[in-house]
Amino acid sequence: MSIAVYPGSFDPITLGHLNIIRRSAAVFNEVLVCVMVNSGKNPLFNIEERVELIERTVERFPNVRVECSSKLLVELMKERGAKVIIKGLRAVSDFDREFQIALINRKLDDGIETLFMPSSEKYTYLSSTAVKEMARYGADLRTFVPMEIIDDVIRKVESEGWR
Ligand code: ADP
Repeated sequence: MSIAVYPGSFDPITLGHLNIIRRSAAVFNEVLVCVMVNSGKNPLFNIEERVELIERTVERFPNVRVECSSKLLVELMKERGAKVIIKGLRAVSDFDREFQIALINRKLDDGIETLFMPSSEKYTYLSSTAVKEMARYGADLRTFVPMEIIDDVIRKVESEGWR
């Protein structure tokens, strides 16, 4: 049983993330999308909201689960019996940081492998930050985030006074 973990902030999930999830779900028995608590960022959605938005979006994939964690990723993986970390790469600029994190995770647990999945060329420009920026200016979000969550993003940006 191969379980892959796809960690990130997902604030909010974008079509780029969804593309990586769909392709990973076709390769692994199970994909665990993990919303990591990252104190360094000032998020738009809280952790529970982010998990719920992802759950709604991945309902169609029977082998994808979603959870959140404030633990060290390798600890969570040990508990779940997962050996693979999936990272989406948009551009060379993602590589330096992701390579460093991959080496650290291997140092922490040498049974864990990080696999880099190149972004679909349709989504290389896309990030959660860009989505939030576009939402602020009232842009059409249909080419950025899954249909199921567009209204949530608009409502949240408005309720937070970001717009
Ligand atoms: P963001 O940079 O959008 O805030 P996250 O921290 O949620 O993203 O990233 C989670 C994972 O998804 C990382 O591996 C990141 O490289 C990857 N990722 C983010 N956006 C895309 C995209 N448009 N295409 C492919 N992978 C992506």
